[in-house]
Amino acid sequence: MVEYAPVSTAPYAPLVDAFGRQMGDLRISITDRCNFRCVYCMPEEGLKWLSNERVLTFEEIARLAQIFVRLGIRGIRLTGGEPTVRKGLPDLIRMLGPLAEEGLESLSLTTNGFTLREQARDLAAAGLTRINVSLDSLMREKFHRITRRDCLQRVLDGLEALEQYPSIAPIKVNAVAIRGFTEDEVIPFAELARRRPYVVRFIEFMPLDADGNWRREQVLAGREIYEMIHRWLPLEPVQTVASSTSRVYRFADGIGEVGFINPVSEPFCSSCDRLRLTADGQVRTCLFSIDEWDLRGPMRAGASDADLVSIIRLAVGHKELKHRINEGPAFQRASRSMSQIGG
Ligand code: SAM
Ligand code: SF4
Repeated sequence: MVEYAPVSTAPYAPLVDAFGRQMGDLRISITDRCNFRCVYCMPEEGLKWLSNERVLTFEEIARLAQIFVRLGIRGIRLTGGEPTVRKGLPDLIRMLGPLAEEGLESLSLTTNGFTLREQARDLAAAGLTRINVSLDSLMREKFHRITRRDCLQRVLDGLEALEQYPSIAPIKVNAVAIRGFTEDEVIPFAELARRRPYVVRFIEFMPLDADGNWRREQVLAGREIYEMIHRWLPLEPVQTVASSTSRVYRFADGIGEVGFINPVSEPFCSSCDRLRLTADGQVRTCLFSIDEWDLRGPMRAGASDADLVSIIRLAVGHKELKHRINEGPAFQRASRSMSQIGG
């Protein structure tokens, strides 16, 4: 009789990069496709999609996610493109649920909110614990202009639908801040954070747009937005963990919170604990990476978990010290745009 050794679930040694940063967070893109065409992210048309064969299956994603968790990843965020356009998303969330027993602490989703009105219930039932909804304008015409889709009300309805599922918390609302576009939205967004149970976060515009139109002058710094809000109503700081990318505040009389993610004006690379897995199975160690590390090819060629761990360690060993957005000619645009990376 053949005796099989039990599969070891012992965790591997943690993933630490050349600068001593331990990896704790993984963004998994599950599709490069999207039903929006946000001007700061995708072109109106002409982007080439990955063929279905190149995109990881749910089983492949689950296998890699387990390896990453055994390597010390504590937070997984599903993203895209738009993750909710991929059929069977709740099934994937269900497949990843058992990773909680191996140390995964949070399983979250970043979405444009278009389908939440219909999908919120299924996502909650599948075990989603956190969500980020992107929302750049509270005015119908401006929302249309920035997303190239006229569907603000649908997204607002989706947010309201989420409030019925307290197992998904917190609800974060992310707005990309662009000079000349966002200023007159700052107080309405702050008011939203005051009145609703949302953490509204302003994210500085980064040079990751497929159209290549980013200009430094378009960056509306988080500090400026903070000051606009603080002048209107005083903000009180909220304590966050050291690896958090955002500075968070609340109002004395508010329900929600306001946050600032300032990757351009106040880079947080020195505490970056983040890795990314693209929809076609490439590890990226920085949003602005030029190089990627292929896991899909080896996995499909029969690589063992130990082989895949070696590739991941090699990638982490090459994690960039910092982005170079502020270094003039030293800055090189990333090898893919945001929707293809998985933001
Ligand atoms: N489609 C989903 C969504 O919009 O939430 C998930 C993918 S999207 C690429 C992830 C996040 O990246 C969104 O919050 C989006 O606003 C942000 N993003 C996209 N392009 C950006 C850019 N050039 N600068 C800053 N944030 C950007
Ligand atoms: Fe799509 Fe999200 Fe990019 Fe907008 S930001 S085009 S919703 S992937």
